[in-house]
Amino acid sequence: MIRTHILDCHAPRSEADALNRESGRVYTDTLVWHYRIYRRTDHWLSQGAAEKLNDSLSPTTLHAHSRDAAQQAFYKACKTAKATRAEGGKYPHKRKFYRTTIWKATGIRLTDGRLLLARARGREPIAVVIPSDLATLPKMAFVEMRLVYDQIAMRHRWHLVVDDGMEVPLRTEGQTLAADLGEIHPAAVANEQGDVVIFTARDLRALNQYRNKRLASLQTRQSRLTKRSRRWKKMQRRKAYLLARNNRQRRDIEHKVTRAITNHAKAEGAKRLVVGDIRDIGNGKRLNTNAQQKVSGWSHGRQIAFLVYKLAAEGIVLERQSEAYSSKTCPVCGRHNTPKGRNYRCARCGFVGHRDAVGAVNQESQAVHGAFGHVQVGSVKYRRAFMRRSSPDTGHVAREVHPADGSREAAGL
Ligand SMILES: [Zn+2]
Repeated sequence: MIRTHILDCHAPRSEADALNRESGRVYTDTLVWHYRIYRRTDHWLSQGAAEKLNDSLSPTTLHAHSRDAAQQAFYKACKTAKATRAEGGKYPHKRKFYRTTIWKATGIRLTDGRLLLARARGREPIAVVIPSDLATLPKMAFVEMRLVYDQIAMRHRWHLVVDDGMEVPLRTEGQTLAADLGEIHPAAVANEQGDVVIFTARDLRALNQYRNKRLASLQTRQSRLTKRSRRWKKMQRRKAYLLARNNRQRRDIEHKVTRAITNHAKAEGAKRLVVGDIRDIGNGKRLNTNAQQKVSGWSHGRQIAFLVYKLAAEGIVLERQSEAYSSKTCPVCGRHNTPKGRNYRCARCGFVGHRDAVGAVNQESQAVHGAFGHVQVGSVKYRRAFMRRSSPDTGHVAREVHPADGSREAAGL
């Protein structure tokens, strides 16, 4: 399985900056020479010719293959532009002063629990200490290392791509589960009998509400200050700090929620989990401000990405399907109703159920039988994926909850 591990970067800021500045320079040189030759000869420079030209024109402090990666990035961007021209794709034209530096497997060595990242001949490699569980992997496992500048946290991080060579075979036996990534709770998961487990994470909402409120107040205060003044900059730093911390906290919660969903899928003996495709939520369809705030604060994309690899490690496949009308259609009679609040009420047959459970059961019916109405809401249970000890503004201590006390009947939460 291929996974990306994110590690803190302890290299001095100046050293990390120098590396990414050099990558930016190589990229920019490639771009400049490409257009210069195009203007003079009216011909495109081929990627191979450009790399050769670049190599001969400017010596670099980077490893040869790190330099290749920076050069190739320009041609990749050209390719993307060509493919998306109809939708307004533009050819790369901006100079980059900094760029993520990439080490390919050929530039990575492993000794004594440290990765040595090669630079140009005659220069000392950069040593990165890696976690002990990674240090026992064979050399071949280290596919790529990237030095990424995190814009929000304003610091560098290592992104280490590891392929442990262990493919978990997909399960051939088992049932299908459907997950509705909801607005009120992060997820409701239905099985083939219609039993639904709703995963709750009130803290996730509290966290986002806190962030939005605090950000608004900081912005109001900042708007009264002279732009770029000392106090204005201080406010800017506070905003960045708030967003960086909020992002880490959300990420942490999303890891715990998706871990709980994966454990549940495993316990249910699932072979596949179908997720309603919510890509149209949060962009395009305009919700009222409150709902918009709730939805946009949740990273459904990230939750799905976490789910994909956590499930894959158990041999469970994740599939997407359209979630159109799954939250509106009555599972009993098929009428479309617009749910208000957390309850779904059918105006025709009188069915009442939890809104997220209805969505999940409809998704399940769609996934297994190809249409709504074949799976009815059975039992509904709540499960907390974790518990937090502190309020969102004072700290970020969270602990896992024992499954026995994490699950409660509908009335409890
Ligand atoms: Zn009905």
